[in-house]
Amino acid sequence: MKNDKNILLVLSSPSGAGKTTLTKKIQQKFNSFKISVSHTTRKPRPNEVDGIDYNFVSIDEFKKKIQDQKFYEHAKIFDNFYGTSKDNVDELIKKNDVIFDIDWQGNKQLSNFKNLNLLKIFITTADKNDLKERLLKRNQDSDNEVEKRLKSYEEDINHWSDYDYVVINKNLENCFRQIENIILTEKNYPFSINSTSL
Ligand code: 5GP
Repeated sequence: MKNDKNILLVLSSPSGAGKTTLTKKIQQKFNSFKISVSHTTRKPRPNEVDGIDYNFVSIDEFKKKIQDQKFYEHAKIFDNFYGTSKDNVDELIKKNDVIFDIDWQGNKQLSNFKNLNLLKIFITTADKNDLKERLLKRNQDSDNEVEKRLKSYEEDINHWSDYDYVVINKNLENCFRQIENIILTEKNYPFSINSTSL
């Protein structure tokens, strides 16, 4: 039974499939969840805050952390480095469930730590065209960025079978309810599934 230990919830998806919004909704719904704040060498976007969205570091700082084995996992994505700090996670997991918004490479590496109580969910759009519409609608990325994200879609979805669950985000509220029910089941909370919402 999984409910006797805190859960490390891995959420991965092709970039733009709604994962960041879903991560925030999970944290709002379940007080027990804290978000693992990654380290990255990417430059902050205008609305991002250091220490909250990411720990923004230089490439040298990042490399030093790799050398000192400070990461549970790290990966290069779209020309930038991203990593999950061991110290942060070990501290959080003592009292909380933890959410990881990381890619398939990170999920593979975390899975090698057999002592971690992972719950792995892959979120995807219905198809590539759906992702394209979503990226264009959110109007946050340059044409070049959109192109890059669409290109990596094929690679990303190839890894769905590394996960415990795959959820299609056609409608944000339905997708969230499905994730909510997965968490409730895995945590063995008393609940009833609202079948009309699925
Ligand atoms: P963005 O730059 O758009 O915030 O994130 C790009 C991608 O990096 C997303 O798919 C996100 O899940 C992934 N990512 C963020 N932090 C980490 C991390 O610590 N490790 C790994 N492997 N991927 C991460």
